[in-house]
Amino acid sequence: DLVPVRRALLSVSDKTGLVEFAQALAKAGVELVSTGGTAKAIAAAGIAVRDVSELTGFPEIMDGRVKTLHPAVHGALLGVRDDPEHAAAMHQHGIEPIDLVVVNLYPFEEVRRSGGEYAAIVENIDIGGPAMVRASAKNHAYLAVVTDPEDYASVLNALEMNLGSLSFDFRQKLAAKAFARTAAYDAAISGWFAEALAIEHPGWCAFGGKLETVMRYGENPHQSAGFYVTGDRRPGVATAKQLQGKQLSYNNINDTDAAFELVGEFDPARSAAIAIIKHANPCGVAEGGTLKEAYLKALACDPISAFGGIVAMNRILDAEAAEEIVKTFTEVIIAPEASEEAVRIVAAKKNLRLLTAGGLPDPRAAATTVKSVAGGLLVQGRDNAVVDDLDLKVVTKRAPTPAELADLKFAFRVAKHVKSNAIVYVRDGATVGIGAGQMSRVDSSRIAARKALDAAEAAGNPEPLTKGSVVASDAFFPFADGLLSAIEAGATAVIQPGGSMRDDEVIAAADEHGIAMVFTGVRHFRH
Ligand code: 5GP
Repeated sequence: DLVPVRRALLSVSDKTGLVEFAQALAKAGVELVSTGGTAKAIAAAGIAVRDVSELTGFPEIMDGRVKTLHPAVHGALLGVRDDPEHAAAMHQHGIEPIDLVVVNLYPFEEVRRSGGEYAAIVENIDIGGPAMVRASAKNHAYLAVVTDPEDYASVLNALEMNLGSLSFDFRQKLAAKAFARTAAYDAAISGWFAEALAIEHPGWCAFGGKLETVMRYGENPHQSAGFYVTGDRRPGVATAKQLQGKQLSYNNINDTDAAFELVGEFDPARSAAIAIIKHANPCGVAEGGTLKEAYLKALACDPISAFGGIVAMNRILDAEAAEEIVKTFTEVIIAPEASEEAVRIVAAKKNLRLLTAGGLPDPRAAATTVKSVAGGLLVQGRDNAVVDDLDLKVVTKRAPTPAELADLKFAFRVAKHVKSNAIVYVRDGATVGIGAGQMSRVDSSRIAARKALDAAEAAGNPEPLTKGSVVASDAFFPFADGLLSAIEAGATAVIQPGGSMRDDEVIAAADEHGIAMVFTGVRHFRH
């Protein structure tokens, strides 16, 4: 899969490192072909270079708008060299093969950023450059494309290592980068148009994705919103079928996603599980028994917050569970599937949205998440750590009982889906108190305990539900106080990442109270 590099086409706006690179290529015996300005810069350094016009037999015209857009160039870039017909066409038309394409594009982004005139910005939309980049990236089976001066050194290095050839692996990586480059370039162009013309939803999202629906509004009524789907086929809110109910709002989609991603943590072969979500945080999660039983346990955690919530489950929605869920005002139900009878029962509530996703999200799947900040995007890998896969360490004198350990894992599974700081109390496979989104861990702990007390009172239960519970924290306890507040609430076992400077203090406090504590070594911040 090595391709010997005999001829290179260079056409760059950013001439950084160009002369040195051209020099090294020439020394390696590569023939250089180039466009106007690039050829001039190379020739000025005394390096032999052929003008692309010589290849095309056609001059650059229209101020350079048309210089490489010619079959002699694109035939060389797109020809499948192993295909006899392609080879014959190249031969017949005298098309000389090109093995390396070095292109960087008109500086559209810089011109836009420096506030150029409309016409100047438009003029800096490169057409021939992206065409060459895309053609050679597509045809990476036969050639290599370099779109970033920062890669010149590694190209020279690879050429040297492979005695003048480039490997398939290397060409493939360059092709991936090339398409990322043209995608970002076009994103900048479409972003500029959207801004200049104040278009909010042009039909496609420059970050990837096709406009599915324009919502009445976003998070608030004065914000516009659209839902764009990327074409990823994984089961989730974007691919789910809506069987009935009103159009999903922006907040509905966000909350339904949170609900379904959470419930995907529970293997349906092991147990039925239900998650009830409000404002992207769970207000009740439970597993075990039938779906209906799990729903009732989840509801009991915080019945006040569950009003107007989103209900997600990991098994087929059955009639019994549907009957129970529709008793409480619910915005959305999402399930892998729904039985015919369940669908009929939900149909009695005209506005209630029912979605079936055909499967469950895989909590271990690798994916990319994106968050926008002013002037940029934060991109990170999906939090796909699963507590079952972690090396749990008992750090206290007392180890958790098997029942405690099951609840601890349950609690940590849920804590992963609670906004930080997250504190989750669990008893018998159900959350009994959830503290979310507080700036201090102690506050989250107190709120969770307070909720457990309220729920107990509402149920006419004299004991707070946190008595004899276990507790999970999404991040380490920086001091013993958070732990002490959990002990005060009645927790007997704790799961947390560990890794605080004061772990010793926290462990000592746990030992003093006969608490069992396990460290996961993994943190689940979520903001
Ligand atoms: P040069 O400085 O060599 O004259 O031009 C290099 C720039 O021209 C590169 O940024 C390259 O992407 C762009 N380019 C190459 N071929 C064409 C073409 O046919 N049309 C347009 N508009 N730009 C091209």
